[in-house]
Amino acid sequence: MKKRWRGVVIDPVLPTYNRVNLVFERGEGAWLFTRDGQRYLDFTAGIAVNVLGHAHPHLVAALTEQAGKLWHISNVFRIEGGERLANRLIEATFADTMFFTNSGAEALECAIKMARRYHFASGHPERNRIIAFNGAFHGRTLATIAAAGNAKYLEGFGPDMPGFDHVPFGDLEAVKAAITPETAGILIEPVQGEGGVRSASWSFLRELRDLCDAHGILLMLDEVQCGVGRTGRFFAHEWAGITPDIMAVAKGIGGGFPVGACLATEEAAKGMTAGTHGSTYGGNPLAMSVANAVLDVVLADGFMEQVQATAGRLRQKLAELKDSHPQVIAEIRGEGLLLGLRTHVPNTDLIAALREEGMLVPGASDNVVRLLPPLTIGDEEIEAAFTRLDAACTKIESGLKVAAVKGAAA
Ligand SMILES: *Cc1c(COP(=O)(O)O)cnc(C)c1O
Repeated sequence: MKKRWRGVVIDPVLPTYNRVNLVFERGEGAWLFTRDGQRYLDFTAGIAVNVLGHAHPHLVAALTEQAGKLWHISNVFRIEGGERLANRLIEATFADTMFFTNSGAEALECAIKMARRYHFASGHPERNRIIAFNGAFHGRTLATIAAAGNAKYLEGFGPDMPGFDHVPFGDLEAVKAAITPETAGILIEPVQGEGGVRSASWSFLRELRDLCDAHGILLMLDEVQCGVGRTGRFFAHEWAGITPDIMAVAKGIGGGFPVGACLATEEAAKGMTAGTHGSTYGGNPLAMSVANAVLDVVLADGFMEQVQATAGRLRQKLAELKDSHPQVIAEIRGEGLLLGLRTHVPNTDLIAALREEGMLVPGASDNVVRLLPPLTIGDEEIEAAFTRLDAACTKIESGLKVAAVKGAAA
């Protein structure tokens, strides 16, 4: 209080976010409730995090049960939940081994260190540069902002961490031209989330796989946003029929508890011996209990088919929406339940109009509105989303009409 009297005006919480002035008290499935009982359809899902929605009974039970036993020990001891989670992920993916983190950026930090260390261990320490793609997002640490190369996130934080080369997304010739004797690997999001819900074609991923094999470099996937069922497969690269050497995972894997992982083949991980990497919290018992509970649901028979069916129905509805609101919606993008609406109006207008209708969605670059519902939504939520989208678009159109009339009168 004393400091406030001396004229300090900065927010008590560092003001690095443009926050929406809404406070939620509780959530249930795809719905969020404010204290005064207002209900919002949550198609933000914590930015693709709450894959099973809010307060999923199985996750709540897993967390509370673990909370009564053991929260945290240290990675100097064995953590059974982590061993179990690792074995299950190994069973379900390309990976032979993995490192657990608390976030996506940390999973990518591990991936970047691992790629450099792989070549160091192979006798080629000069192979330490990673090719990444314009429009990418890999997190907000110094290495991950340099990896993505987005000027907006790098500004004022120099010197930029060296070791990254950038090429246009989807441009195979540019990738080929960027490979040098110093290249360690290629890092790509199979579907760019933040960058505007842009999909790399599956054939492009296959071509990158071939290039990596031909040059003895590592294919590194960032599936932090598009993984864990979001595209209708456990991991998006499965659609392409390829496997990476290293993959960063987070967001959905914890269902809302902070969990990340860096998955790798035995070969790619060969430099990561005892003492080369660590984390105090990464993979602690609370986190591991929740992530195992997420896998119970997501890896159950029929779950991915259900996501694909839901995605198909939502996509159909969005096509209708675009047909009836061509002045607002320019394009529908994405895979599965990682969907984007590129708009003719500023995307922030549609986001605000949807909020007024009781629906929450995040934006993305390229003037895109993202739709990232929990993977568990059903017909009721699809209908509710469509009703709100339709109403928001109608409102925007009437605003455009008024503006046009005013313009004509002036
Ligand atoms: C969110 C995100 C990250 C960063 O994850 P954090 O948990 O915020 O560090 C990295 N890559 C992609 C593709 C993401 O969507």
